[in-house]
Amino acid sequence: MAKKYSSKINKIRTFALSLIFVGFLVMYLGVFFRSSPLWMTVFMMLGLLCIVASTGVYFWIGMLSTKAVQVVCPSCGKTTKILGRVDMCMYCREPLTLDKNLEGKDFDEKYNRKSVQK
Ligand SMILES: [Zn+2]
Repeated sequence: MAKKYSSKINKIRTFALSLIFVGFLVMYLGVFFRSSPLWMTVFMMLGLLCIVASTGVYFWIGMLSTKAVQVVCPSCGKTTKILGRVDMCMYCREPLTLDKNLEGKDFDEKYNRKSVQK
């Protein structure tokens, strides 16, 4: 595999986590602008916005998780969740599919795009 893939839920989770860090970082930057109340407010608001956005993303993950199909990974035996037609095991990165037609084929994220579906 040339490209590294990770489970979609894990990917979104990483994104939400980085949003929190960015939010705190931006708020921290605002401290350097103490002399200017306007800029400090702007940074604080931006930071707060990032944190609010990440809360939203976490909520979205929760919604997605309820829709994801739970399967037992054939490779590591752990229970993992599949989003879309193809996804990866959250633990061992084994490619998993719900579509029998795609079984045995190399993992490719483009199978999730509508244009490929027939
Ligand atoms: Zn696995």
